[in-house]
Amino acid sequence: MKSARITGPNEPLTVSETETPKPQGTQVLVKVSSVGVCHSDLHLWEGGYDLGDGQFMKVTDRGVKYPVTPGHEIVGTVEQIGDGVSNVSVGDAVLVYPWIGCGQCPACKVGNENLCDAPKSMGVFQDGGYSDYSLIPDSKYLAKLDGVDPDAATSIACSGLTAYTAIKKANQNSPEFLVIVGAGGLGLMGVQIASAITDAKIICVDLDDAKLETAKEMGADFTVNSKDPETIQKIMSICNEKGADSVVDFVNAPPTVKTGLAVLRKRGNLVLVGLFGGSLEISLVTIPMKSIIIQGAYTGNYNDMVELLDLARKGTINPVISKRYSLDEANNALEDLKARKILGRAVINP
Ligand code: NAD
Ligand code: ZN
Repeated sequence: MKSARITGPNEPLTVSETETPKPQGTQVLVKVSSVGVCHSDLHLWEGGYDLGDGQFMKVTDRGVKYPVTPGHEIVGTVEQIGDGVSNVSVGDAVLVYPWIGCGQCPACKVGNENLCDAPKSMGVFQDGGYSDYSLIPDSKYLAKLDGVDPDAATSIACSGLTAYTAIKKANQNSPEFLVIVGAGGLGLMGVQIASAITDAKIICVDLDDAKLETAKEMGADFTVNSKDPETIQKIMSICNEKGADSVVDFVNAPPTVKTGLAVLRKRGNLVLVGLFGGSLEISLVTIPMKSIIIQGAYTGNYNDMVELLDLARKGTINPVISKRYSLDEANNALEDLKARKILGRAVINP
C-alpha cells in the first residue's frame, strides 16, 4: 500500500510503499476513498502544541512515534474482513471512528473512548488515512455511509463530531446569543450544527471575510471580523450590551480567548476547542463573581458520530468540501491549510 507519512517535525511528508496488511479477527482493511485534512494534522506535522511562555508540548512526549501516517477523517470501502467480523461486508462504504481508546479506563467504559486515559487514535498514535489502504483494529469502529457523499462524510469523524460535542456543551444554558470563534473546518460545522440544534442567535467571528460570508450562508445571524479593533464592542452591541450566553472558541489562542471572556455575560459558558495554543492571565475574582463556566471539548464519541451521520443523510448538515488533492499532493494540502487558503475542508483522494 502507498502512504504519505510524517517522518519528523516539519519534514516534508514522504510517500512510500509498504506491504498491504491482511486483516485478522475483528480487523477490517478499508480502501480509502477520501480523508479530510484537519488542522490537527498540521500540529502533528509541526511536532506539537504551543503552551505559551516559550513552552512547547511535543507530540513525541505524548506517545506519537514517527514515522506516522496522519489522517483521522477516513472514508472508504471495505476491501477485506477478518474472520471475526459480521457487522460489515466487503464493498460497504464506511466512515471510520478514529478516536480509539484502551477500552478499560473510566471514559472508555461509558463509551467515551475519545476521552481515554491512554488513547490510540488513528492518524495520531497509530497510522491513519493518508494512504490508499487503512487497517481498522475492530469493525465496531465503522459506520455505514448509506447514501452520504464520501468526501462530505470525512468531516463527520472529526470537524463535525468535535463541533457537535462543543455546541451541545454550549447549549446547556439555552443561549440567546452564541458566539462561534473561527470559521474554518470546525467552525463552519459548528455554525451549521448550532443553527440545527439550538435556538440561539449565532455570531461568528473570524479574520477572513470570505469565511465569514460562508458562515452566513451556513446559518450565522451575525458576523464580526476580529481584525476590527472594535470587535468586543461590536459583539456586545449585537447582544444588546448584556453579553453572550455562550462562546465556543475553535481557535483558542490568547487574543480569541480574551475576546471570549470579555463578551461573556454573567452565568456564561466558554467552551474551548481549538489547539492554536498559548497562555493567558485571568483575573480570578471575575470567575466566581460572574459564575462562568470554562470547559474544554475534545472530539466526540462513536454514538454522536452515528447521530451526526444521520443528520448529514437528512441534509440537516452539509460539510463544505472546497478542495481535493491526490496522495502525492499531501504536502501541498497541508501547506495550503497552513496558509489559510482552504475554505471549510480539503480532502485527499488517495
Ligand atoms: P482551520 O485551519 O480549518 O480553521 C481555523 C480558522 O480559524 C480559520 O478560518 C482562521 O481564519 C481562523 N483564525 C485563526 N486565527 C484566528 C484569530 N486569531 N481570530 C479569529 N479567527 C482566527 O482549522 P480547523 O481544522 O477548523 O481546526 C481548528 C483548531 O481546532 C485547530 O487548532 C485544530 O487542531 C483544533 N482541533 C481541535 C479538536 C478538539 O477535539 N478539541 C478537534 C479537531 C481540531
Ligand atoms: Zn481533526
